[in-house]
Amino acid sequence: MTYQGLIQRYGQYLDLPAHTKNISLLEGNTPLIPMPRLSKEFGCELFVKFEGLNPTGSFKDRGMTAAISEAVGRGAKTVICASTGNTAASAAAYAARAGLRAIVLIPEGKVAAGKLAGAIAYGAEVIQIQGSFDDALTLVVEITQKTPIALVNSINPYRIEGQKTAAFEICDVLGEAPDWLCLPVGNAGNITSYWAGFKQYQKGLPQVLGVQAAGAAPLVLGHPVEKPETIATAIRIGKPARGEQALEAAQESNGRIIAVSDEEILSAQRILASEGVWVEPASAAGLAGLIAESAKGAFDARGKKIVVVCTGHGLKDPSIITDAFQFPKIIPMNYDALLDVIGGA
Ligand SMILES: *Cc1c(COP(=O)(O)O)cnc(C)c1O
Repeated sequence: MTYQGLIQRYGQYLDLPAHTKNISLLEGNTPLIPMPRLSKEFGCELFVKFEGLNPTGSFKDRGMTAAISEAVGRGAKTVICASTGNTAASAAAYAARAGLRAIVLIPEGKVAAGKLAGAIAYGAEVIQIQGSFDDALTLVVEITQKTPIALVNSINPYRIEGQKTAAFEICDVLGEAPDWLCLPVGNAGNITSYWAGFKQYQKGLPQVLGVQAAGAAPLVLGHPVEKPETIATAIRIGKPARGEQALEAAQESNGRIIAVSDEEILSAQRILASEGVWVEPASAAGLAGLIAESAKGAFDARGKKIVVVCTGHGLKDPSIITDAFQFPKIIPMNYDALLDVIGGA
């Protein structure tokens, strides 16, 4: 049978109500890409779970198929979310698919171009608020408590159910859980979902390395961050909704949550791209964490099976790259000029 999306594939493992009406864009089923050069460097078997290949370019589609499917089945007409960008694009796409109205709240001026464009293209009503993601989430919670509008942020339990499927897929491909799972942590829904997924699937448990950006690292600092700052906009969150569960996942798995600098994140982004995988900055945090821990001698990768979760596609945030590079050279339209500029073959 051809692939029919996550609810069809893994629905039996997901705690979704009977009224759920499957709305799918054939999300999930993303590749676990072996990384031979990085594997050699660390003396391990390293894989990238490339979530940027989901329908709207991030892992958010896993949870969104579940949340929108439940909301439609319940008779919701309008959904709302706060977003640093990817949740907005995903909610907009699945709402469009289901024929629902979608409203998304984003922090003013802080959303990467490819994400904003996605949300608009799929027809969501996009509203910028003069505040942070955390402020936007507070507003969204209030309006969904007072009106019939359905909330599709990851405090919606069905988002977590859907996102568990990434852990199932990894186990299905490897035949067992990896030794380590490295991933970025923002609002902490994803780390919560992976841990729940691995526990449920019973193919072994990885140690979990959760990675925050140094300017937005409430779980490392032990307190909320009032004004989170990082170029990794998808994890620019100062008050993670599922912070407790993230800390639990790290502790139970005998792993940890650490912070890395923006420079380390951008360096990891370049390393991944140099092996053919272009991800948005936040998505490189998992690898940045692995590199930082190894350099400190705090992490022995040798002989291990390691999965680095790359949460979103590089195309989401193109200006990070183009701003940092020289504009491509312009030459006259002739052969000699071309040979001259490339300096020979
Ligand atoms: C949402 C998102 C994250 C953070 O995931 P949380 O579940 O909020 O911790 C990381 N990277 C990308 C690309 C995202 O879209």
